Amino acid sequence: MNFETIAAQAAHQIDPATGAVAPPIYLSTTFERDADGEYSRGFVYSRVDNPNRHALEECLALLEGGETGNAASAAFASGSAATAAVFQALAPGDHVIAPDDCYHGTSRMLREVFAPWGVETSFVDMTDADAVQRSVRPNTRLVWVETPSNPLLKITDIARMAAIAHSAGAACACDNTWASPMLQRPFESDADLVVHSTTKYLSGHEDVTGGAVVGREDSPFFQRVRLIQNLCGAVPSPFDCWLTLRGIRTLPVRMRAHSANAGQLARFLEDHSQVSAVHYPGLPDHPGHDIAARQMSDFGGMLSFQVAGGREAAMAVAAGVKLFVRATSLGGTQSLIEHRASIEGPDTTTPDDLLRVSVGLENADDLIGDLAQALG
Ligand code: PLP
Repeated sequence: MNFETIAAQAAHQIDPATGAVAPPIYLSTTFERDADGEYSRGFVYSRVDNPNRHALEECLALLEGGETGNAASAAFASGSAATAAVFQALAPGDHVIAPDDCYHGTSRMLREVFAPWGVETSFVDMTDADAVQRSVRPNTRLVWVETPSNPLLKITDIARMAAIAHSAGAACACDNTWASPMLQRPFESDADLVVHSTTKYLSGHEDVTGGAVVGREDSPFFQRVRLIQNLCGAVPSPFDCWLTLRGIRTLPVRMRAHSANAGQLARFLEDHSQVSAVHYPGLPDHPGHDIAARQMSDFGGMLSFQVAGGREAAMAVAAGVKLFVRATSLGGTQSLIEHRASIEGPDTTTPDDLLRVSVGLENADDLIGDLAQALG
């Protein structure tokens, strides 16, 4: 079955009791036990498993893993909870290699939560595979990849990172939030785990917070993630799972439209005299363009650009937009713009003249017109 078909039907089976085509939402927290003590219908208690969560997990496993039937998946209450479950699966004394440019919540989590628990991290420029190789230590257990990266749109060669991880006896996890499985499937490049903030493209409508970890197979590492999901309980509600599945039905068409709009915007910004740099892997002179073209089927809806004139000029552009919404996050139908350094806080390494854009599904000419008038 092709990706679009899996997404459009979103792992749905017609409700056997009513024939409902849209899936019902199962709010029940607990499920009836059989007279003989078994749970023949498969559900016991909603923290452990729930029909809506089960359907979402099944769908994500199919989207990332294809129909091999090997992929395993666990849904969480947010992308950050999914990320945390992967790090919680490590032990004190383990070492992680993570990108120097990644979602600031992920790097803060490693520094402020997991370092005090004894998990060490080296933050490395992952566009430099030799630097990653040099960072490997005897206790390296995980290579964490995020590509395209947040907010500089750096592109990391997933297959290279997976090879380095595996030769060190470590696992490779890829945060696939920005590309979504429509544009990039890290298991095809040998990653072991894929992590998502489903808050973004998968749900796609700025109305649900969620996350997921998908395993290429039901490995001991993934089983530990599943144990953490069950015992620590950061699970999404049935309605959140339902909303996310509803979003997934249109993921392929949305990702194509996001990518087409972002490409047009990037080309407009590249030629603008008030713009000193555009970070978008679809531009042929982007340093990661060739790798992106190889491991992604399109270049996605995220870009960032730097405004000539520094922080004040960038702030003025963000203040001047009329169609774009000034807000953090990404992956929804509406275009968002944000001054990223001021969101990330005092320890940010993001250039202070940089604006990050989540390109939505509006008409590209309208978006270009809005940025043109804000840039002046
Ligand atoms: N990973 C990436 C790449 C993100 O951009 C984000 C949020 O912006 C997260 C993870 C965290 O997801 P959530 O906000 O759902 O916890």
